[in-house]
Amino acid sequence: MNFKDIRERFRNKEISAKELTKDSLDKAHKYSNLNAFISTFDEDALKKAEYIDNNFNDYKDLALGGIPIAHKDIFCTKGKRTTCASKMLENFTPPYESTVTSNCHQAGSIMIGKTNMDEFAMGSSNETSFFGPVINPWGESLVPGGSSGGSAASVAADITSLATGTDTGGSIRQPAALCGITGLKPTYGLVSRWGMIAFCSSMDQAGPFARDAFGCAALLDAMASYDAKDSTSAQRDKVKYEDALRGDVGNLKIGILRDIDQLGISEEILKAYENSKTVLEKQGHSFVELDFSELSSGICSYYVIAPAECSSNLARFDGVKYGHRSDSSNISELYLQTRSEGFGEEVRKRILIGTYVLSAGFYDAYYRKAQKVRRMMKSKFDEFFKSVDLVFLPTTLDQAFEMNRTSSDPNRMYKEDLLTIPANLAGLPAISFPNGLANELPIGAQFVGNYFSEDLLLNITHKLQEVTDWHKIKP
Ligand code: GLN
Repeated sequence: MNFKDIRERFRNKEISAKELTKDSLDKAHKYSNLNAFISTFDEDALKKAEYIDNNFNDYKDLALGGIPIAHKDIFCTKGKRTTCASKMLENFTPPYESTVTSNCHQAGSIMIGKTNMDEFAMGSSNETSFFGPVINPWGESLVPGGSSGGSAASVAADITSLATGTDTGGSIRQPAALCGITGLKPTYGLVSRWGMIAFCSSMDQAGPFARDAFGCAALLDAMASYDAKDSTSAQRDKVKYEDALRGDVGNLKIGILRDIDQLGISEEILKAYENSKTVLEKQGHSFVELDFSELSSGICSYYVIAPAECSSNLARFDGVKYGHRSDSSNISELYLQTRSEGFGEEVRKRILIGTYVLSAGFYDAYYRKAQKVRRMMKSKFDEFFKSVDLVFLPTTLDQAFEMNRTSSDPNRMYKEDLLTIPANLAGLPAISFPNGLANELPIGAQFVGNYFSEDLLLNITHKLQEVTDWHKIKP
């Protein structure tokens, strides 16, 4: 069932929060082969559901009242294990609650568990988790995308109607595309990063997953808030995203990329993209061709900046304060062994790259240059938004791919993020939604909007979903 129907039924007392929670937990266990969850909190979830049912009037009008939800295991949850899918935090129980999860609790949702992800959110296939890979509900040998693959799988498999994720370089949009659901990466600063384990702080941003734009709007209403505890949190008037869906979007000018067929996007995805353009045209929108020949440089910039920031952010995991600790009596050995044992291969690789590009001898050659590319990317979008309202492009190059994909190109996995990274570098909002099916697997496309245009992104997607059925197709 999708979020809107579930909430309607709860509000009409046709189904109780307890029944909904029991159903979600049952499915989480039934589909344990997907490995979508690192932890479930059966007892606490059922207790909260019962409390909500007993206090129905206090919850019935809340955005997420009575709704089971899954949170990515990157958000600290007070008194409940939070691992970031790393051996380093295998037994870590935070003493405080992240703003995102706290906002969701306050909006009346019921957390049934924490979802599996790539270790420290580094990856595009959910194969780097210490707890093993997540399986795409569309096929048992397929990856769900990453890094928020567990959350995407939970929604795609109908375990929960909503889930949270984070998107530093595409980790909401790419798994949304590969699992056939809708996911939004908000403007940097709209959603608080407090209590969200840091990977690349200048790009990390949390956002919603749901089957459709309506569910994403309701969850974003709960997630977004100004938070003094996050110094990059945006102080703005609160927008009610769900209400924004009722308005008309008007006739928009939509930017499309010249030479899009030169980017290595699969034929099936390009075909779905063309079909969506036809629908958009029928809805009264027009297209403007943009020259975005710099798009590919985004990936080079990202894979310098993200490792640089992660090498600094992950320095705190030293075996002294918290997390995994190796047996060693000597302090340097303790650091070395703890970090060698606690971090997986991908994380160690990124820390090495990050310290290298930040080192005195190479800072100008790599880090400063990457920052220049980042600035250029932002200017490029500023330029685009002078003539268009939105930019429309596919979300990924490929559909869900096989696990353990072997490739002669060691950077193949990094290229997965080619189309998502530009929005992260610029700090812009972007939404991915299902826009086709080929080889019996979903396809995604995305809109990138100007800063704080989440209402428009959600609304245009909602209008498309009113006349198309791609978001209704299930594995
Ligand atoms: N796949 C990208 C990476 O590995 C993006 C990850 C993310 O958005 N968290 O860094």
